[in-house]
Amino acid sequence: MIDSHTHLYWKKFDDDRDQVLARARDAGVEALLVIGIDVETCQQAIELAESDPTIFATAGFHPCDLKDITEDDWITLDGFLKHKSVVAVGETGLDYYWETDSIDTQKEALERHFALARKHDLPLVIHTRDSIDDFLKILGDEAPGLRGVMHCFSGDTAQMEETIALGFDVSFAGPLTYKKSAALREACQAVPADRFHIETDSPFLPPQSKRGKRNEPALVREVAEKVAELRGWTLKETMEQTATNTRRLFGLPR
Ligand SMILES: [Zn+2]
Repeated sequence: MIDSHTHLYWKKFDDDRDQVLARARDAGVEALLVIGIDVETCQQAIELAESDPTIFATAGFHPCDLKDITEDDWITLDGFLKHKSVVAVGETGLDYYWETDSIDTQKEALERHFALARKHDLPLVIHTRDSIDDFLKILGDEAPGLRGVMHCFSGDTAQMEETIALGFDVSFAGPLTYKKSAALREACQAVPADRFHIETDSPFLPPQSKRGKRNEPALVREVAEKVAELRGWTLKETMEQTATNTRRLFGLPR
């Protein structure tokens, strides 16, 4: 199985990153995507990827981290995307929960990430919060030539279907296991087998059994268990199918 979204460079992992990776492997994680959100963390993601053949990096500017991004940073990002261990552009997207004052800036940055994805022929990793419909509207005008994943999908079945129709995949994280996430579980049951991924978004969003604690890549197994239960698959089928999907979208080597 693959954890398709972790922020493994986060300070909270500094004391035990090697053990975290060992636990992930013991849990059946065969590869991880480490997601950059600004210049510093993109660099750290690339360094992690260079240190371990099972780690891959992405590079982009998170919608909540745009305030200090300079024109030079965009040039640096363009350079990161040429790196052989960088497999996607992002995370980028729209956050209308934390960042209500910067919506125009976020949309402009999103368009620049779209342009970079086209230029480098890479998939996109998309963050949305309280913004799925606006994102889908923008994607509707831009979709040809783009591919990617709506990470930590939080929508309903109709929004999932629209995302898939526009050529993007969805990815399920810890919230799939939360009691209140009935609409999300319904979307997970309805999504085409070859169009979804699993992730932790660690150190954030731990699954139900670890709420309030630090999340880590090993716990993607709980997301896989929930997917298996919802779809009537075995855990092995779930791990293999989602890993195949993630390898395909991001062009990961076997
Ligand atoms: Zn993230």
